Amino acid sequence: MKIGAVVVAAGTGSRAGGEKPKQYQSIGGRPVVWWALKSFCDHPLVSHIQPVIGASQETLFAQAAAGLAVEPPITGGATRQESCRLGLEALAKHDLTHVLIHDAARPFISADLISRVIAGLKEHQGVVPGIAVADTIKKAPQGTIERTIDRSGLWVVQTPQGFAFAAIRAAHEQARQSGQANLTDDAAVAELAGVTVAVVPGGPENRKMTTFDDLAEANRSFSKSLNALADIRTGMGVDIHPFAEGNHVMLCGVEIAHTHRLAGHSDADAALHALTDAILGALGEGDIGTFFPPNDPQWKGAASSIFLAKAVSLVAERGGKVGNADIAILAEAPRIAPHLPAMKAKLSALLGIGEDRIAIKATTTEKLGFVGRGEGITAFATVIVRLPG
Ligand code: MG
Repeated sequence: MKIGAVVVAAGTGSRAGGEKPKQYQSIGGRPVVWWALKSFCDHPLVSHIQPVIGASQETLFAQAAAGLAVEPPITGGATRQESCRLGLEALAKHDLTHVLIHDAARPFISADLISRVIAGLKEHQGVVPGIAVADTIKKAPQGTIERTIDRSGLWVVQTPQGFAFAAIRAAHEQARQSGQANLTDDAAVAELAGVTVAVVPGGPENRKMTTFDDLAEANRSFSKSLNALADIRTGMGVDIHPFAEGNHVMLCGVEIAHTHRLAGHSDADAALHALTDAILGALGEGDIGTFFPPNDPQWKGAASSIFLAKAVSLVAERGGKVGNADIAILAEAPRIAPHLPAMKAKLSALLGIGEDRIAIKATTTEKLGFVGRGEGITAFATVIVRLPG
């Protein structure tokens, strides 16, 4: 399967109040659309993410999606349906087998939900997440009840809706040619073309931000969940590796050309080792050697990102998260500054936090000591880890 995603953020919706369209308003310090895109960026099975934005929202979008690996945004059409069709056309060049179509106004989509939709696509041409209707449903077009509708078999459907790429692309083209322009979801487009669409369980957290109250409530529960991580720990780590014969060093997971390599059992990434030790320190969990003994042959030449991922997973297992990381690298050479953006991006992905929570600094030691003599590199790291309090 080669899976892409269309994230529709083209609304000019003002029902939520405020100066900006709702997808650019903030929840927990991030725009709604950032959260929606991030879920797909983080999912290992989704390769190309196509944002569809409103006319003259380019600047808003560029600010909102800074640092996220998504396709350049395209401008949507007059209706949601047309915006989706244009998004699909923009993705057509990537030879996708499947596509997920998502409304940016649903920021809290879980990785599990994305996985459920993808799993359903192994059996069906179309899959939508849905929640079985639990309330009694009345038809009351004039305000008085005309009748009660049998709720058995009724679902409230959400996005992302997944489809075989060719099938949904053809269905959209068919709907366009037949003059259907206002279908409110892509399943309706697929149904019209005779595509079978299955329902998988959706998630109550995957709610749609429609009104100002929705945004206010999302902000309240966001700060409640962060405030619940009241056990705030600091950790620090130090690591030193000597130079040896070679042609590059690894620092913060980035390969940097150099006249030497750093010697060590693994890839000798002193910065990732210091950071890993800092996180383990915050957890009171020993150090790298506790989990990855240096005499164990399986870690020979290993990418140190494995060590950091282990430390991050220990934080997650305890229901916590890394708050921030601050790293200082002491080296006479190579020059680190040109690589800082790549390093930050790497750490952001590994730690699961924004780049605004990561600092990396490099300094020489004015030719003093072993670092000054060019014999090796030292890295320091401090972190904050938040655990449930
Ligand atoms: Mg080390």
